[in-house]
Amino acid sequence: MPSPPEMQPRSVERLVRGIATSDGAGVRLTRVLTQDLQRRLDPFLLLDSFRTDDPEDYLSGFPDHPHRGFETVTYMIAGRMRHRDSAGNEGLLGPGSAQWMSAGSGIVHSEMPEQEAGRMEGFQLWVNLPARSKMSAPGYRDIPAAAIPEFAPDSGVRVRVIAGASHGIAGAVERPDTEPLLLDLQLAAGSRFEQPLPAAHNAFVYVYRGSVDVAGTTVPERHMGILANDGGAAVVTAPASDARVLLVAGRPLGEPIVQQGPFVMNTSVEIRQAIRDFQSGALQAGAVRKL
Ligand code: MN
Repeated sequence: MPSPPEMQPRSVERLVRGIATSDGAGVRLTRVLTQDLQRRLDPFLLLDSFRTDDPEDYLSGFPDHPHRGFETVTYMIAGRMRHRDSAGNEGLLGPGSAQWMSAGSGIVHSEMPEQEAGRMEGFQLWVNLPARSKMSAPGYRDIPAAAIPEFAPDSGVRVRVIAGASHGIAGAVERPDTEPLLLDLQLAAGSRFEQPLPAAHNAFVYVYRGSVDVAGTTVPERHMGILANDGGAAVVTAPASDARVLLVAGRPLGEPIVQQGPFVMNTSVEIRQAIRDFQSGALQAGAVRKL
């Protein structure tokens, strides 16, 4: 008997190879989730991946810059980045740690390398806010590596639950509006991981080591596999070699998305207001709370 649709593995709808670009003051990175995919992967707006052993690729960092209207999630694999914001908050991101920052109505911050040599590797994911929360007070949380729950559902599988919940394990972060799931999967050769997902939630995997199989499609290293909304679970196997994979899913907002650089709002009128508020210094003025 065929399994009911809610139990079927989601297929891979499309493979995406990121594009090499630079951002900040010249940091070289790969933009995996680009602006043309924002509608398809609602509520996710951007995924940047960076991995380099050459300090010239990262030393310039991301000096003071504003954000409004969404949240940024930074997840580090290797290296150290220091965060400072306009309200005087400061935090150091090290290997295995994360930072969840809700820009809300506005923040000005910097993200700078805290090293002059060695590997820098990690990700930044942007998660949209619903229209009603875009002008809420900004906030952030630094999450040390030890505070990210980790479990082993099967032999050869380790799961770090940065956001959402997996197999009954609550992640470090829960966000009610879009219920984002962010898992870092470490799969030994021959292992398999299954994650039930609500059918309406948009989802993708990003393979950053090795390659994996998702419902019969090979997703190679440094590729994103967009999962079709055609089943109730993401099923990821590492057939041939060890692999590391981000699994990302969330509830779409279904609202208009207008992005200009570091601002993501619902209308171009709101974008123009954001630019005016930045120019007048209003984005620097607000207090930033702990999330
Ligand atoms: Mn930023």
